[in-house]
Amino acid sequence: MSKLENIVSLCKRRGFIFQGSEVYGGMAGTWDFGPLGVALKRNIMQAWWQHFVDQRDDIFGVDAAIIMNPRTWVASGHTATFSDPLVECKACHGRFRADNLGDFTSQVTKEDLTQAGITCPTCKKNDWGDVKQFNMMFATHVGAVADDSSQAYLRPETAQGIFTNYKNIVDTIYPSLPFGLAQQGKAFRNEISPRDFIFRSREFEQMEIEYFVSPDEWEENFERLLADCHDFLENKLGLPKAMIHELDVPAEDRAHYSKRTIDIEFDYPIGRSELMGIAYRTDFDLANIARESGKSMEYRRKDTGATFIPHVIEPSFGVERLLMAVLTAAYTEDEVDGETRTVLRLPANLAPYSFCVSPLLKNKPELVAKARSVYDLLKQKYHHVTWDDSGNIGKRYRKQDEIGTPKCIVIDFDTLEDDTVTVRDRDTTKQTRVKIAEL
Ligand code: ATP
Repeated sequence: MSKLENIVSLCKRRGFIFQGSEVYGGMAGTWDFGPLGVALKRNIMQAWWQHFVDQRDDIFGVDAAIIMNPRTWVASGHTATFSDPLVECKACHGRFRADNLGDFTSQVTKEDLTQAGITCPTCKKNDWGDVKQFNMMFATHVGAVADDSSQAYLRPETAQGIFTNYKNIVDTIYPSLPFGLAQQGKAFRNEISPRDFIFRSREFEQMEIEYFVSPDEWEENFERLLADCHDFLENKLGLPKAMIHELDVPAEDRAHYSKRTIDIEFDYPIGRSELMGIAYRTDFDLANIARESGKSMEYRRKDTGATFIPHVIEPSFGVERLLMAVLTAAYTEDEVDGETRTVLRLPANLAPYSFCVSPLLKNKPELVAKARSVYDLLKQKYHHVTWDDSGNIGKRYRKQDEIGTPKCIVIDFDTLEDDTVTVRDRDTTKQTRVKIAEL
């Protein structure tokens, strides 16, 4: 099995991530999180919020509605241009994202495919229809009448929910420039070919910051935020520096409004691919909103009184891609006592459970009662404590290793004598005796 298959299999076996709507045969591009997956995902999102919002004075949170006034997407350019090139094989009628069939840009044509000798991945023929631009926004209708006037979209990015609240924030709390607004939430894209586990989904979670700056200060703020993104990835998510790479996106591949974009890529089992991006978006979005809404998006500097539309630096993270990177870095197979074991070396702040408490034997009521009291004690201090009295102790360790629990605490007969417990470390498998009071 490939490393990705191993990770997918572990995620399913241990209740991290399931195919969406699996009971009905699935729903392509959607994923459901089980108890451990939710815990891991929430820990990642929590770490991000702490890092970028709670621990700073200049970034504030917002939480906007998923369904927005459709004028949002006209102003942002999504209605006209948020599309991927779609091509149909005339022989088997399979549909593909044309730029992914080879080394092409999004402007790829049928002639390009033919000249490059690209064959259909399904039927291996070279008989392509015209390449069409396929808009990736999910349309829906709001209210009881389903016609053009009620058409709306599920947001394809969280960013516009931030931009449309910029004026509310300036009018209410009036933060000094530079300041940022951060949001976490679902985004929806009708991807032509969702694939690679949770890497490319149709429904996923984004965490975005729009950081508003004076136009002449964009470069230093870009560098500062970029460094801060690295700090988060390496020190809060524990991703190895050697697996993280910067791609300075060349002008011809950047969105037309962006003067600079750095994609941060990660060495996934599927190869080096985009983990997140940071883009300098100029005043593109606020100027568009000003035009479409007729309202001023200008900011008046408190120190100089200068008035202008702020420019924006946008760090944009996808939670599923972070989660897949965390799993990739953590997934390890090593050998313990001559047997192969699977272990998720998750950082302690991300692991679904910090501790697992067990009685050595589950048919000894005095051990179970003592173990319960230790469990209750830890549960008061930490949220992430689990109880396991299934199978034998070796099996419990293997299971906790697989789900990434850093410490297993075992209550045995000595505990009843001297109030010490065995603490077994996930990574080294070493066991130490610790007083309960010192846990
Ligand atoms: P890609 O080139 O891989 O399609 P993108 O450049 O379109 O991604 P952005 O529009 O910059 O992505 O979105 C910001 C972030 O949202 C990405 O860096 C990624 O982490 C996440 N993201 C985008 N599309 C998806 C998706 N289909 N599934 C999961 N995460 C996604």
